[in-house]
Amino acid sequence: MKYFIKTFGCQQNHADSERVASGFKARGFSEAKNYNDANYIVINTCMIRQSAEDRVYGLVRNLGVIKKQKEKRKEFLKIIVTGCMVGMAFRDKSGQYLQKIRGRMPEVDEFLPIEEVGFDNQPVRQDDTHAWVPVSNGCNNFCTFCVVPFTRGREISRPFHDILSECLDLRKRGYRMVTLLGQNVNSYGADLLLGDKNIQTIRDLEKTYFIKKELAHPRVKIEFKLNGKSIEPVYVKHLGRYRIPTLFPYLLEAVAKMGFRSVNFISSNPWDFSDELIDTIARYKNITRTIHLPVQSGDDKVLKRMNRWYTAEQYLALISKLKSQISKVNFTTDIIVGFCGETKMQFENTLELAKKVGFEKAYISMYSQRPMTAATKALQDDVPHTVKKKRWQILEELINRSSKKN
Ligand code: SF4
Repeated sequence: MKYFIKTFGCQQNHADSERVASGFKARGFSEAKNYNDANYIVINTCMIRQSAEDRVYGLVRNLGVIKKQKEKRKEFLKIIVTGCMVGMAFRDKSGQYLQKIRGRMPEVDEFLPIEEVGFDNQPVRQDDTHAWVPVSNGCNNFCTFCVVPFTRGREISRPFHDILSECLDLRKRGYRMVTLLGQNVNSYGADLLLGDKNIQTIRDLEKTYFIKKELAHPRVKIEFKLNGKSIEPVYVKHLGRYRIPTLFPYLLEAVAKMGFRSVNFISSNPWDFSDELIDTIARYKNITRTIHLPVQSGDDKVLKRMNRWYTAEQYLALISKLKSQISKVNFTTDIIVGFCGETKMQFENTLELAKKVGFEKAYISMYSQRPMTAATKALQDDVPHTVKKKRWQILEELINRSSKKN
């Protein structure tokens, strides 16, 4: 029996596919060269934008032709769809999304939630020098434009020691580069610090991220421990509250110490980038000097509508701090143009911010509505497509083309 996996979307999806492949290998399957050659076809889906969903529908339609041909030849073929579209389908309590994808893809034999693919087997890696290592899955941030909290669910961190043993094993097998992956790596571990029982039951932000109001007072000493060492809660200035500490600086340090030539991480959110994390990066030369720090917009009102927990000024202050403490640091980012209600002046604020930072690269996207998100439910997608496109071109020219020219 042979399998073929087609992956759409981000690196997290690619890392998940490596684990899906490991499940097939463990059952004695081999990798097929193409769709025609396969008995099992797995499509790992993305729904960050409508166009990503549309590509999946198109592919499945074409696979239906192969399926019919195989049926005539009495050959076995099973089509399995997994990833974000299935995550959304199983989390949408109304059942409408599942009904929709079933209706649009009758050729599919199984919709498999990615959570059912565990970490028990060695991933089948695409590269023998660089490895992707997931540290967490899901996100608790609920940016109003983003579908991830609905497709991948709330943030669950992988156990600290499981990640370290995976990295140690990679090191022993000669891997020179590793990238730690998560939707928000620098919030890694808040759920772990609360203990196993809480991981299963805590499902609201207040309990997962923030310390109870009555304890969130500078005079109250709250201690969390990692291997007997106490870790202080983080004070989130713009929210005026204490946050359950992140374990990411400790995880990153432990991986950096293993002697990889390069240790990278994606993605990190500006509001979780602690002084401790900056200090860890500064102390280890093998930790990346290219930091991916999604800004999304350079305008405070737009950031607020996006439910991003920082202002443009705070973002720039973080950039200055990073530049002053880490030599040769540079930045890449994500920006959305044409978000609901974005005016010309608000877009110009993004341009200003981009000029001040001097990004190495930006992943720029034109805003599009995604199901279940707060922006789709409560805000108007009122910037015309032509305006979005124009703004995209201006930013693209400023950040990506000009850096290529230099
Ligand atoms: S931080 Fe925001 S943009 Fe990133 S995955 Fe979470 S909700 Fe989406």
